[in-house]
Amino acid sequence: MQYVLSQDQIVKRNEVFVDFEDRGYQFGDGIYEVIGVYNKKSFRMKEHLERLERSAKNLQITLPYSMEELDQKLEELRERNHFENGWIYVQITRGVAPRNHPFPTPSPEPKLIGYTKEVSRPSKESYENGVDAILTKDIRWLRCDIKSVNLLPNVLAKQEAIEKNCFEAILYREGGFVTEGSGTNVFMVKDNKIYTHPSNNYILNGITRQAVLELCKELEFEVIQERFDQDFLLQADEVFITGTYIDIVPIKKIDDKVIGKPGPITNMLRQRLQIKIEQE
Ligand code: PMP
Repeated sequence: MQYVLSQDQIVKRNEVFVDFEDRGYQFGDGIYEVIGVYNKKSFRMKEHLERLERSAKNLQITLPYSMEELDQKLEELRERNHFENGWIYVQITRGVAPRNHPFPTPSPEPKLIGYTKEVSRPSKESYENGVDAILTKDIRWLRCDIKSVNLLPNVLAKQEAIEKNCFEAILYREGGFVTEGSGTNVFMVKDNKIYTHPSNNYILNGITRQAVLELCKELEFEVIQERFDQDFLLQADEVFITGTYIDIVPIKKIDDKVIGKPGPITNMLRQRLQIKIEQE
């Protein structure tokens, strides 16, 4: 039996009802988070919920109850669903109101839904040999720092990657500047220096990205958080992507350019991240 969190109640999946006038359904007017679960333990729940709170604030969506309460409810849901590895999804929409673009007045009650999914991680081969990626234009809006449920450009980019037998689409803006992946952050290594796009409105500041940056600091690697272009990316010694539950996945080829087997910095960070996840 799959249990879900509906508002503040844990109920059976088939007891949940979604109104067709929910603004999440009609306008994509909502926010979400995906929290990784490893050996029955969630990783960095607090950081995910803080980001959810920030997304809500940016969109003026009021939260139905406190983040402490949400933390407890999601952990309870994880336990009720008895699974070891996968993720917890939580979404909050502005609520249900007759269809009209402006924020409804009075404000409707926000709608919260949470559920869990047992999933396997990418294959051992993906981590050991790396995966392929494509480069494609970043056609998203200019507030990619908000984790909204509007994911159509991300969906299209990922679909393009899949149709080309690739794992991820790496996005670039006007001028060729690389932002991030369709659902991941992008890092590259050149001459022992680590590069990644700065945390601003062009990317989602990944929780995994932040954990990797902490590791870089601990290991005293030089990190340059500045934007770089596609040409520079294709000259990288190592490229890897980061994201919840996939952690760090090495990239071995981008379009036709071979980057090569996972390099020493990628492998070191991957090992260390694994330890961090186990220990926290
Ligand atoms: N960028 C985008 C566009 C994403 O959708 C995600 C995954 N939610 C990430 C980066 C990685 O973020 P996190 O490490 O918090 O999963």
